[in-house]
Formats: sequence, C-alpha cells, structure tokens
Amino acid sequence: MPAAEFRRFGHEIVDWIANYFEHIEDLPVLAQVEPGELKAQLPSSPPEKGESMEAILADVDRLIVPALTHWSHPSFFAYFATSTSAPGIFGELLSAAFDVKSMLWRTSPASTELEEVTLDWLRQMLGLDSGMSGFIYDTASVSSMHAIAAAREGVELRIREEGMSGRKDLPLLRVYASEQAHSSIDKGIITLGLGQRALRKIPTDSEFRMNPRALAEAIEEDKRNGILPFCVVATVGTTSTSSVDPVPAIVEICEQHTMWLHVDAAYAGPAAIVPEMRHILAGCDRADSLVLNPHKWLFTPFDLSVLYCRHMDLLRRAFSLVPEYLRTPEQDQVRSGSDYGVQLPVPFALVCFRARPAVAGETEAVKAKRLDALNEAIMHGVNATGEAFLSHTKLNDRLTLRLSIGNIRTAERHVRRVWELLNEQLIKLSGR
Ligand code: PLP
Repeated sequence: MPAAEFRRFGHEIVDWIANYFEHIEDLPVLAQVEPGELKAQLPSSPPEKGESMEAILADVDRLIVPALTHWSHPSFFAYFATSTSAPGIFGELLSAAFDVKSMLWRTSPASTELEEVTLDWLRQMLGLDSGMSGFIYDTASVSSMHAIAAAREGVELRIREEGMSGRKDLPLLRVYASEQAHSSIDKGIITLGLGQRALRKIPTDSEFRMNPRALAEAIEEDKRNGILPFCVVATVGTTSTSSVDPVPAIVEICEQHTMWLHVDAAYAGPAAIVPEMRHILAGCDRADSLVLNPHKWLFTPFDLSVLYCRHMDLLRRAFSLVPEYLRTPEQDQVRSGSDYGVQLPVPFALVCFRARPAVAGETEAVKAKRLDALNEAIMHGVNATGEAFLSHTKLNDRLTLRLSIGNIRTAERHVRRVWELLNEQLIKLSGR
C-alpha cells in the first residue's frame, strides 16, 4: 500500500473509530443476529481477487458491526465488563506497526525493558513487595497455568525432564482451589497433564469464600493417604460473585505445609491501587504468585494479563508451553443449600440479584423452578432489547442475575436504564 493511501485510510479508520465511540449507544449491545447469519453472507472459498479498502470498510459497517457484541458499550453489564481506551488503542496501533517479537532482549530491547519498568510501577501501585517480578501473558488462564507449572517444578520430581506418565515413583500431586474458582484453574491442570483428579475443590462459606478449615483438613487427609499437596489457588474476586477468599488464613496453611500459594486476582486485583481497597490483597505479600488482568479493569485492550511471581528461577525452570487458548464460558459452581434468596456482599463493581415475586401456597421446589425460569426470561428479555446486556450465574443452585459495571463510558443513567428494563420485564412476565 503506497504511503499516501496508508495515510488516507489510516485517517479514515481513526475517524470511523471516533464516530463508533460517539454513537455506540445507538447500537444494540448484544449482537442481534442468528447463528450462521454472517457466515451465509461471506464467500465460502477464498476470493480470487483482493478488494479495495473502500469495499472492505463498507463491509465492516454492513456485515461486521451487526454481528458484533459491543463490549465497549456503556450498557455492557455481562461477565466482567471491560474497557478499551484511546491510549490503549493507539498503543495497539503502534505495536502492530512495530510487530516485534521479544523472545530475546536483542530482538526488542524496548519491549523487554518497557515491560519490566511498567510492571514494576504496577507492582508498586498495588502495594506488592519488591520480591515479586512481573511477566506479561495473554490471559489469566495462561498466567495461572504457568504459576502451577512453576509450583510443580518446585517439588523436585524431575517432571520437566521425565514427564508424569508411566512413572511408578510419583505420588498423586494435588492442587486446591475453592468450588468458586475460575475454570481456568481446571484448564491449567488439564493442560499440565496433572489430570482433573489433581484438583480438589474446597467448599465455600455463605459468602462464597473458601473455608480455610476445610482446606487444612483436606490437605491433612490427602497427606495421610500418600498424596502430595503442592499448590493452593486462592481467588480475590471470584467470577460468579466477586467474593474474596481469606488469603491471610490460607497463606498460613500453605506455609505450614510448604505449599505454593497462587492468588487469582484476575478481575479484582487492580482495585488494590485505590488506597481504601488495598486491604483486598492482605496476605498476598506472602503468596508465591499472583495474577491480575489489566485487560479487565485497567482500560487496556484485550489481551494483557500480568503474573507476579516470587520464584523466577522456578518459572524459568518449568517447562511452559503456551497453548492456543480460547477463553471458555464461565463454569458456574453450584453450592447445595436450601436458601434460595441469596443476599451477596458486593465487594467490587458486580451485583448479583434475583427477582422473587411470591405466589401463595407454592412448595419450595415449585417456587425455585418458577423463579429460575422467570429470572432467565427477564435476562433474555432485557438482552433482546439491545439496550443492555447482562449475564447470569448459579448460586446455591439458583439462577442468579449478574450486573457487572466496569466500562469507562458507563454513567449513572445507563445503570438506571437497565434497572428500568429489568422491572419492565418483571412486570411483563409476572404481571407485577
Ligand atoms: N480468573 C478469574 C477470577 C476470572 O474472572 C477470569 C475471567 O473472567 C479469569 C481468571 C480468566 O481470565 P482470562 O480470560 O484472561 O483467561
């Protein structure tokens, strides 16, 4: 592409993006297309001839935008709402132009050194101690997998060299995480060849936080049975409810048993930058590793995850294969219990709630089923308006709506509007 054309289309695309942000609220948040609708409009074999940039940009408007779910929309309240930002987009533009691969210092000193310096700034902003060094990975899933690989390397069983299969000299290795931990921990364990039975899920309390006594008992029981406990994953800000595991109590147990403590603070970690929220990382000064995702709450375009690790030597020593990783849908963790009207703490910008209009004379089981169906219908009804998008989880076996506020463009009026939409659906569906 000649430089003059590059300038022309570059300016046009930047104008297009500015316009997109200015008018994003006119678009439906959730893509309003049927499965296969976009595919049907695309050629099924590679076109013989290239197309002009004009035609390609027209296709972006005509085909691509309608098939997008707009994560940058201020009424995107699903999963964990995220935000790109102007400096983040410009950074992406420059990095695409430089297109460096920094596998060695010499292949891009700027990339390597800028990463080291900025991750140390972030460490200081979070109040983590200087024993922690940061690395950038693509996602928290990959960061956590590397942390568990480093933890396994620390047990000195020559797994990097000899693997695990066919070895009679190896005990069952065990990792512990709460039943509310993100599915990326399961995935990491599967990827590392530890096998799903290596992960023991610890029950949580009424606020969905890991029960440290149950953790200690599980470790002791496993040890009595010849199992080798080597790692605990605590979560600061779980995916379903943003609950915070009691890290100060968990780290004591890890130290007592000489186990690696990895903290998954993928979502909530950045909140610790604010002095009054610093307490959420209490105990993490004794953790071996901690992950947080600037692509969630620090206005950085996807993907950018940071792993802080105290044992760079082990991380280096561990055999770490970074797989092509597609993010899996959240695996909702279900706690059995009889209380269907769950009141949550709201530790961060995530609210879990559920409509529960009463019907006289109903049994508990019938009521639970009716309310699950009602809440699901309310959610689909709101999402179908295109005005807002929210998602759900299951808590105590009950369908619970989640409203995650995290977009830089979200103002109070967007939150008020989604509340109106929820109530409109409730009235429409239940007549009250
Ligand atoms: N950990 C927690 C607590 C999360 O909420 C998520 C995603 O929402 C992840 C890990 C996975 O993050 P990523 O998509 O960067 O792999």
